[in-house]
Amino acid sequence: MQDILDLIQKEQDRQNKGIELIASENYASKDVRKVTGSILTNKYAEGYPGRRYYGGCEFVDEIERIAIKEACDLFECKFANVQPHSGSQANAAAYRALMPNGGKVLSLVLNDGGHLTHGSPVSFSSNFYTFIHYPLDKDGRLNYESIKEIALQEKPDVILSGYSAFPYEIDFKKIREICDEVGCLMMVDMAHIAGLVAAKKHISPIPYADIVTSTTHKTLRGPRGGLILTNSPELIKKINSAVFPFYQGGPLEHVVAAKAVCFKEAHTNSFVKYVESLMENTKICSKTLRDLGAIATDTENHLFLLNTLDSFGITGLEAQKKLEEIGVTTNKNMIPGDKLTPKETSGLRIGFAAVTTRGCTKEDAAEIAKLIFNYLSNKINKEEASSKVKELTSKWKLIENI
Ligand SMILES: *Cc1c(COP(=O)(O)O)cnc(C)c1O
Repeated sequence: MQDILDLIQKEQDRQNKGIELIASENYASKDVRKVTGSILTNKYAEGYPGRRYYGGCEFVDEIERIAIKEACDLFECKFANVQPHSGSQANAAAYRALMPNGGKVLSLVLNDGGHLTHGSPVSFSSNFYTFIHYPLDKDGRLNYESIKEIALQEKPDVILSGYSAFPYEIDFKKIREICDEVGCLMMVDMAHIAGLVAAKKHISPIPYADIVTSTTHKTLRGPRGGLILTNSPELIKKINSAVFPFYQGGPLEHVVAAKAVCFKEAHTNSFVKYVESLMENTKICSKTLRDLGAIATDTENHLFLLNTLDSFGITGLEAQKKLEEIGVTTNKNMIPGDKLTPKETSGLRIGFAAVTTRGCTKEDAAEIAKLIFNYLSNKINKEEASSKVKELTSKWKLIENI
């Protein structure tokens, strides 16, 4: 036990000392962590509230009903399944509910900002379904005309949108129109932007999509887990049987309970303020980098892409490693039109969800841009950069107090 506690302490220190710019990470609140660590982990509850395969479920039934209701209230939809253990599990269940084995999905490829579960050869997805992909424009934006053309030609069962590394707003209404014209279903994976959607700072996919999947631990700031939403009484039945018993066994009721806490937290004014500040910080950092002479995308959400190859003459992998030396965590990412391999890449994905939770201000966001620029272009050395990281992080909240 002690060895594990020591390592948790080390990880806590690492989280407190670093500037966390990985766009998919965040810091869960004390309440979310308390509930995740509760005695609910002891309970088996296969099935759904009122229809369990085990006795003694009266309290977890109530908890799961609250989680479902809070999810539906927050996202203004009719039905929710709160049991998926992760976003990938949620996607697996959604695919099964939407189409038979071998069904065809039109999605964005991983290298352009999609997700492993959107048809990557190393994921289950491409083994059970047929994936075809739509390209992005040269500037990295969605081209709805070309999505429509491909869809009319290929006649997919499902058009999938929602991405892992896409810095712009997605026009779900336009995608619905394409789906209606083609006669196919619409699935949205809002894993990254769920917090923005909850705060009404990004168009909601709920009125347009047949099924919406999500994670709960990225911008939504809850426990690590998945979520599926729909307005269709037919689809929710299929979704429920796809999650249990098809893909999963007993639900993690401690995580389901923490999801309920997260949905309530996200349904407050202070969460809306958080999302506003998060988007403002992201915008200021990307703009400051461009003003300094770097090549970075603009942003309409919580992340942007920095072209490190053309800005500093180093690959994304090299930039990631160099920043890691001073406690700034990012991840290498393909940029629009990238000529390098996904192992190297020409850039970084940078997001502000985590640092904004700790209290990063817009002035801090500009300082972070300068720090990244000056360090990657060797204008300051490791020592100077590290002391800047210390100066910034020591002003922010400790992650155990969030
Ligand atoms: C993160 C992510 C997922 C998967 O989440 P896991 O919980 O890691 O399985 C799915 N889709 C998108 C678009 C994501 O960004």
